[in-house]
Amino acid sequence: MAEKPRFYDATVSKIVSLSTTVKHFVLDYPADADTRFIAGQFMMVHLEKEGAPHKKPYSIASSPSLSGKIELSIKLVEGGYVSTWFFKLKEGDVIRTSLPYGVFHLKEPFAPHMVFVGTGTGIAPLRSMIKNLYERGCKSRIDLIFGNRYETDVLYKDEWEALAREHSSFRFIPTVSRPKDWKGETAYVQEIVKREYTGKTDGVSFFGCGLVPMCKELKAALLEMNVPKERIHFEQFT
Ligand SMILES: Cc1cc2nc3c(=O)[nH]c(=O)nc-3n(C[C@H](O)[C@H](O)[C@H](O)COP(=O)(O)OP(=O)(O)OC[C@H]3O[C@@H](n4cnc5c(N)ncnc54)[C@H](O)[C@@H]3O)c2cc1C
Repeated sequence: MAEKPRFYDATVSKIVSLSTTVKHFVLDYPADADTRFIAGQFMMVHLEKEGAPHKKPYSIASSPSLSGKIELSIKLVEGGYVSTWFFKLKEGDVIRTSLPYGVFHLKEPFAPHMVFVGTGTGIAPLRSMIKNLYERGCKSRIDLIFGNRYETDVLYKDEWEALAREHSSFRFIPTVSRPKDWKGETAYVQEIVKREYTGKTDGVSFFGCGLVPMCKELKAALLEMNVPKERIHFEQFT
């Protein structure tokens, strides 16, 4: 049964611009708040719209080990009510939240090889999961395939590159569909998945997150590659 969500006011303690359209938010919780969640889950942000309660889901981008704090990566959607509200927040503002929600999270025992596939802010829950796996000493092979339109959109790039230097078990494959000075991959994430894993999916679990069209195409590719459904996990940002 799903855990009953817990409601807390949180203080926005830090806001960092990650790209022209994405900001990283750090939320601080009161000392007695129970902010437990499983890496990969999401929270709700509660506000008002036209005098009525309004809420939106946001994946938690930080590891559950980050005590009393939760991090979010929020994309500014043109004309979007809640994302525009987020972009007007200042450090010190207090927001209403509830957590935890969702079944897109790490599954134990960990598979010997996990492939994480994200686009845009779909990286948020994958960041939580990958950070948590390494903190827990996971020895599995971990690949991250991260797709974006522009090279300036590759969120947390320094972190992924540092992780790849630190752990030979971690492979970071960024791909950019509208390159300017980019020398790396330019294929769509699902094409890279087909190329890298066709005929090599035994014992591999896949975790995908992003907008609906990418998730649909990736899921179709994985099923075509005969990956069993129980090893395919998705979160769709609707
Ligand atoms: C489980 C879950 C987790 C999520 N986690 C995150 C997260 O970590 N970070 C994040 O930025 N978003 C995340 N989202 C998306 C988020 O909940 C909102 O949908 C998004 O912020 C837009 O809300 P809004 O109120 O600003 O836009 P709305 O006012 O609801 O929409 C305005 C218009 O924008 C379109 N639109 C909505 N979302 C997008 C989008 N992402 N890209 C392009 N057009 C869009 C709508 O169709 C509509 O036409 C998540 C969604 C789900 C379901």
